Amino acid sequence: MDFNLTEEHQMLLDTADKIARDFPRDYYIDCAKKQIFPEEQWQALAQAGILGVNTPEAYGGAGMGMLALVLVQERMAEHGVAPLYFVVNQGIAVPSITRHGTEEQKQRWLPAIASGEKRCCFAITEPNAGTNTFKIQTIGRDEGDHFVLNGNKLFISGINDAQQVLVVARTDSGGQGARAELTLFVVDTDSEGLTWERMDTLLMNPEGQFFVYFDEVKVPRENVLGKVGAGVEVLFDALNPERMVVAANSIGGGRHVLQRAAEYANERKIFNGPIGAYQGLQHPMAEAKALLESASLMVQKAAVLQDAGEHPKVVGDVANMGKLVGTDAAFKAADAGLQCFGGYGFCESYDVLSHFIGARLGKVAPINREMTLNYIGEFILGLPKSY
Ligand SMILES: Cc1cc2nc3c(=O)[nH]c(=O)nc-3n(C[C@H](O)[C@H](O)[C@H](O)COP(=O)(O)OP(=O)(O)OC[C@H]3O[C@@H](n4cnc5c(N)ncnc54)[C@H](O)[C@@H]3O)c2cc1C
Repeated sequence: MDFNLTEEHQMLLDTADKIARDFPRDYYIDCAKKQIFPEEQWQALAQAGILGVNTPEAYGGAGMGMLALVLVQERMAEHGVAPLYFVVNQGIAVPSITRHGTEEQKQRWLPAIASGEKRCCFAITEPNAGTNTFKIQTIGRDEGDHFVLNGNKLFISGINDAQQVLVVARTDSGGQGARAELTLFVVDTDSEGLTWERMDTLLMNPEGQFFVYFDEVKVPRENVLGKVGAGVEVLFDALNPERMVVAANSIGGGRHVLQRAAEYANERKIFNGPIGAYQGLQHPMAEAKALLESASLMVQKAAVLQDAGEHPKVVGDVANMGKLVGTDAAFKAADAGLQCFGGYGFCESYDVLSHFIGARLGKVAPINREMTLNYIGEFILGLPKSY
């Protein structure tokens, strides 16, 4: 067990620091407000090799694995400029294609993702299914050499800036009551019949959320990822990395807000000394700091297990617990940080409330806190299922 970063990891983080300085929080907020993709930041990440950090070297990436990806995400979030796209593109699409793609699929998609030429978002959530994926109604009709997709998704992050979307659909005959037989499709976003419209989410990220509609969308059979009807297997492999990237994002965001709150609390004087001396402010911040750093280790452990090729259940146990403690710690940090700023925390120019909302999101999406607890209760502690 070695807790020191390798020279390679340190160089990666130095590069992330530089990119964050070149494209700081102001740039990120500006893109978010204008609802435009941070293309300059993205291209800088591409040129530095960071977009391909967890793509195997054989497919144009750096082959540094999950640990490198979570370290980078955590660091970018610490600067307040982490791409949400890393969750779906690097966190879901890359591991799924790497593990379940055919050689032709890997050649087709991975180098383009690593170079920044293409992005892939992820679509699973539906209005009437939500957390219960097995109730989804988007259907992939088998037409031999191609499938035809029909259905609706929502909350799909960044589809307006993606060239591909990894879609979870059912390939059984459908029916509200039946448990869906899932299949994953990589769908070109310029496919005929695929449309979307923006949702009115209030997050301060350049990547927005979208309603997505599939109306007789033709998808070539060679775009099925994994086996038809065996999408669950692909999903299990994809969702562990997603949990880790989300947790890393939350942990970095928590550090960001604590750092800024500590600076403010050291300067702000209302009675005799700086408000940071008050234990009512200081102790919640100190507690959040300790929890953030513990969670960070947990997430790194999950990433190391993933990189070592451990069984998805072994990785999933640690990834889910890391996601739970990481997002909880981030919320405590954002809450404690917001308190320091008093009324100013609610002024847009102080940019604190945006972090609070972002941290709160971690308790709901991509997986809610309760489902993570259900996982720990059922699959780690062996308790009965409640739902
Ligand atoms: C900003 C944002 C970005 C997103 N990006 C994407 C994306 O890119 N792609 C995508 O596919 N989806 C995305 N989502 C959707 C997200 O994954 C879902 O919102 C989430 O899975 C919850 O589904 P739901 O909103 O329908 O909540 P519901 O399923 O209706 O659940 C509501 C609440 O009920 C509770 N609950 C539900 N089930 C249980 C249970 N079994 N036990 C105990 N409590 C339970 C939880 O507290 C949960 O928060 C995004 C959402 C947001 C807000």
